[in-house]
Amino acid sequence: MSHTTPLSSGNGYGFNSRAPLKIAIIGGGLVGSLAALSFARRGHEVHLYEYREDIRNAELVQGRSINLALSQRGRKALAEVDLEQEVLATAIPMRGRMLHDIKGNRTVVLYDPCTHQCLYSVGRKYLNEVLLNAGEKYANIHRHFEHKLNYVNLSEGRMEFKRMQTKEVVEDFADLVVGCDGAFSSVRQQLVKKPGFNYSQEYIEHGYLELCIPAKNGEFQMPENYLHIWPRDEFMMIALPNQDKSFTVTLSMPFKVFATIQTTADLLKFFHKYYADAVPLIGEERLIKDFFKTRPQHLVSIKCYPYHYGSKALVLGDAAHAMVPYYGQGLNAGMEDCTQLMSLFNQTSLSTAEVLQQFTELRWRDAHAICDLAMYNYVEMRDLTKRASFRCRKWLDTLLFRWFPSAWVPLYNSVSFSSMPYSKCIANRKWQDKLLNNVLISTVLAVIAIIIAIYFGVF
Ligand code: FAD
Repeated sequence: MSHTTPLSSGNGYGFNSRAPLKIAIIGGGLVGSLAALSFARRGHEVHLYEYREDIRNAELVQGRSINLALSQRGRKALAEVDLEQEVLATAIPMRGRMLHDIKGNRTVVLYDPCTHQCLYSVGRKYLNEVLLNAGEKYANIHRHFEHKLNYVNLSEGRMEFKRMQTKEVVEDFADLVVGCDGAFSSVRQQLVKKPGFNYSQEYIEHGYLELCIPAKNGEFQMPENYLHIWPRDEFMMIALPNQDKSFTVTLSMPFKVFATIQTTADLLKFFHKYYADAVPLIGEERLIKDFFKTRPQHLVSIKCYPYHYGSKALVLGDAAHAMVPYYGQGLNAGMEDCTQLMSLFNQTSLSTAEVLQQFTELRWRDAHAICDLAMYNYVEMRDLTKRASFRCRKWLDTLLFRWFPSAWVPLYNSVSFSSMPYSKCIANRKWQDKLLNNVLISTVLAVIAIIIAIYFGVF
């Protein structure tokens, strides 16, 4: 049975008495399909335009990572549309990092030894399918696959799409155009032309390439409840478990290092030197095939402000704040956009223009903060995790978190296992660092004073 309003609604327009809008969502990826569902549950007429074919019929997911780490913010957004349990039912919990050193030794660093929270590895395709399937229950969602947005007039809400099959150009109008069309957003391209719109992008000099550790005899070849990391200073490799008992492996390194690997001999030499324990797991033949099959992909970090234009347009997810993937927060942040936007839409006293304005003001600092944190975490993952000082800090953080669970929340926990605004996570970390530095300096000074006192025979 299809319905246009949620069962829990007490009135004709869903969760509130806001008049229904015609909303065009551009991009039917993870954030777009969640946004479509969220708006439909509030009674709006939703048109979901996606450039690619319906992912549910696609054999191969083109583009980005095969699996993703889902954490608290994404879970919360899924819970709001009653899908959290369905998604978690097939997700694989990852309780910590398993670090592989160059000799093949493995060390476990749990994410949260105190409250045992974990990340969940979920398939991108599966998650997208769950969201699209959930949307099928709503007759007020109209799906238009293989429609590529060519142009949008933001003032008029007029959009031009190219039908990918026929190459025909079709037009549509909407009260509100929501760009969920990813890092290279066409909607944002129009926002950039508006006065007062600030935009910056930064490509990092590192690229990534996906490999695979297949299942062996129907079993995982490494412990599955961890995010595996091979930190190697300037570069690194990570692996996340999949439902089919394989691991998706992501090799990240500077393009100049990728460029040194031109032949199978180069590749095997490189892997035997840096990732020797992974070679038998991947298999030499498969390694060669997968490595040379694709070229390393670029990674970009994008910040902009504002996220909206009047009452007519808005960008969400990667379209608003693409980030490098090293905090595993891109999707989680995009889903949190939906949670925060919907809480504003629920306030019926606000006009659409006010909702969008408040969304920008509520969100931009945190979106910029998580872009910065994602950059920082790349250094932490490939370099700092190996250091004794990192483990010592982790141990201290865990101890203090155990003693003062509400006052001392370590950075990783606040980002991944809470909904604390990202900018507050950074501020928190700053005062924690300051306090620890002061304690360290005081301790060193006290020890020096004691040594001097002993030397001069004061005691
Ligand atoms: P996208 O997923 O990019 O979807 C955009 C959609 O819009 C696509 O379906 C596209 O076809 C469509 N589209 C584009 N242009 C048009 C157009 N002109 N007309 C119509 N449709 C259009 N995040 C995490 O939280 N955890 C992780 O572990 C994680 N790992 C990652 C690993 C890698 C290697 C990468 C690259 C990213 C990772 N991310 C992770 C980030 C995450 O993938 C993104 O943040 C997330 O996919 C953003 O979703 P989105 O819907 O905003 O954009």
